[in-house]
Amino acid sequence: MNVERIEDRGRVEILEDQCKGCGLCVAACPVQVLVMAEYLNSYGYHPARYVGRGCTGCGVCYYACPEPAAITVYLREAAAVRA
Ligand code: SF4
Ligand code: SF4
Repeated sequence: MNVERIEDRGRVEILEDQCKGCGLCVAACPVQVLVMAEYLNSYGYHPARYVGRGCTGCGVCYYACPEPAAITVYLREAAAVRA
């Protein structure tokens, strides 16, 4: 049987040392794929972290973040893969 799998539409990259740990991106993400890390960054903040799957590329986290260099969102073209 063929199984259709849709790849994630987006990917988010967080520069941990630019993050001030405010949590706004975590609260704003509609699909809840961001979490606060348990460890600290170089400045003593718990940085936001992408769980690695499920980003839609909506960009809400980017606009929610007060730190201009902390978050980059990459868009992917949706691809249907048959396995
Ligand atoms: S781009 Fe959208 S879905 Fe992806 S992590 Fe940011 S808020 Fe969440
Ligand atoms: S909104 Fe920006 S500064 Fe705040 S936790 Fe998310 S990445 Fe860090």
